[in-house]
This record gives sequence, structure tokens and C-alpha cells, in this order.
Amino acid sequence: MELTMDKIIKKAVEFKPLTFMANQLIGHYVTIFMIHRPLSKENNYQGLNPQLLDECLTYAKQLGFVFASIDEIWNDALNGVKAQRPTLCFTIDDGFEDQLTDLVPVLLKHNAKPTLYVLVDFVDNLNWPWDYKLIYLINKTNIAQLKFTHRDQEFTFNLSTPEEKIISRRALVRYMKYLPQADFKMLMDEITEKLQVALPTKIPEPYVAAKWDDLREYEKKGLRIGSHACSHRVFNSLSLEEVNEELVRAKTRLAEELQSPSNIFCYPSGTSLDYSSEHAPLLKELGYSGAVSATPGNTNYEFIKNDPYNIRRHSFPGSLDRFIRYASWFEAMRSKLK
Ligand SMILES: [Zn+2]
Repeated sequence: MELTMDKIIKKAVEFKPLTFMANQLIGHYVTIFMIHRPLSKENNYQGLNPQLLDECLTYAKQLGFVFASIDEIWNDALNGVKAQRPTLCFTIDDGFEDQLTDLVPVLLKHNAKPTLYVLVDFVDNLNWPWDYKLIYLINKTNIAQLKFTHRDQEFTFNLSTPEEKIISRRALVRYMKYLPQADFKMLMDEITEKLQVALPTKIPEPYVAAKWDDLREYEKKGLRIGSHACSHRVFNSLSLEEVNEELVRAKTRLAEELQSPSNIFCYPSGTSLDYSSEHAPLLKELGYSGAVSATPGNTNYEFIKNDPYNIRRHSFPGSLDRFIRYASWFEAMRSKLK
């Protein structure tokens, strides 16, 4: 049903008089995409195929979309500069090496002005993101069921098939991401032990972070790099002091290593449950003019100007039809840009 809908919307978008009229009506809307990892050698993770990305960018240009970086969009929004056409923006989260080698070059080839949001502890090789550790552990384990008791509640996760592993891992991440730091660390240790997989001291190949040298090279080629904080713990699981410590450390490290880091921040995980309005003042204090979330939807310049610390993004989809739909005036209208 949704797939048929995607096709109908694509046809409607391709019908130029209708698209012209709709764009006049809705004005200068913006679609910001959130990209995660490329299709990888590692199973249990559905990444973005670089060929699909290439196809989507080619198609978007043919349809007359323009590309702008998140910083450009924010500046235009602030200065009241109106976009002439619907604008697309591309952001990539986390800072893996394969994002730099497999996805960024495709975006740069199309002059799509991407921004890569890096986890600073990860790039500094201090730690790898906890949620990716869980992917690793659950991929590698041979046990068919994970059972534990936490806060008097019993948990059972089925790990008997690759499909069940994905479902269980997502549920586990959803539970663990809101635990306070001490609780979280204890449970992480317990789970690691129960899964009977040793976590390697050196980050294993499919999970390697981008290197500062390479980030600097890509910065020269037009990639903007921004802060995604340090650890990938969601802000609502940390105290304000802990959040502030991560923000300051990330900002300092980016300023030390790079020429011109993005002025827009990217919340770890970033759903409306993962951060709160208490975090915007901390960002503002550090000089960040705005922040991108993971709340799905299109946006426009008024929205961004009025609510700069809750900028919406669409997760980059798995098909061209869905990509066109997310970028379309139809979806922009559905996002109620008033
Ligand atoms: Zn992330």
C-alpha cells in the first residue's frame, strides 16, 4: 500500500505543472536527510547502497531540486534569504570510516554539500559507540536466547535467527538507552558476559572510525564536519553536567583538529524522547546556532528560525520512490509547515 503510494506521488512530482503549482503554494520547503552506514560486509545491519544514493541525487537534480548544507540553510533562514526551489540537505551520523569512503564521495561528486556528524570519543579511538558494540556482540554470539533480570523485571530476547537478532537488538537498545550511567555500565557488562563474546580491545574492521587526517582531507574537498557529542549515550540518560562535559569536550576536539566545524549540532539518537528543552541552552551557550533531531518530517526556513534546536530530518530511505516522496511537496504539505 505504502509502496503504491510512493509510486503515485513520484508520478505526481514528475508532472511538472502540478509540481510548479504545489511549490508556489507551499513555498520554500526543505528536506533534510539523515544517513547512517553504507551497505556493509557485516550482516545484521541494513545500510545504504551507494548506488542508490547516486541514483537519488542524479534524479533529484533532474527534477530541479537544489542542494544546500545545513549551515547554509540555517544562515539563509536567519537572514531571510528565500530559497528559489525546494532544497535538499544531507547529513551523515556517527563518523565511521566506511561513511567517508563509500558515501561521502558520492555526495561530493554531486556537490550535495554533506555534513558528517562525528562521535568524538570514537574518532579519538577512546571508545566505540555502545549501540554498535551491541550489534557486534549479538552478531557474534552463538547463544539462542539472552535472559537477565534488571530492576526486578525479567527480560528474554530471542537470538535464534538473524531476523530475531535484529528485533532483539533494537528492543535491547530501546531499553538500555534511558538507563542512568552506572546502571547502564553494569548491565552492559552483564550482557557482554552472558552473550559469551569477548569484546576486542582494538575496534574490529567493520566498525572502524574515520581518522582525523582523512576528515581534514575531506573537509578541504567540501565536507562539513560537526559534533554528535562524544559517547552516543542519549542526553536524557545523562545529567546536565555530563551532557555539558560531552559538549565541551567534543567542541574543543573538533576545533583542535578541523578548520571549520559545523555550527549546527546533532543530538545522539535524537528522537523526541532522547533529549529535552533543557539541552538547547547548553548548546546556545557553546555557540551552536541550532541542532538537528531524528524527528521525521520536512521543514522550512520559518520553522528553522523559530525552533532552531529541533530541526527535523527524514531517515534516508531504501528506495528511489520513497526518496522522491520524502523530498516532495506532498510530504512537505503533510508536515504541516505553517
Ligand atoms: Zn548517531
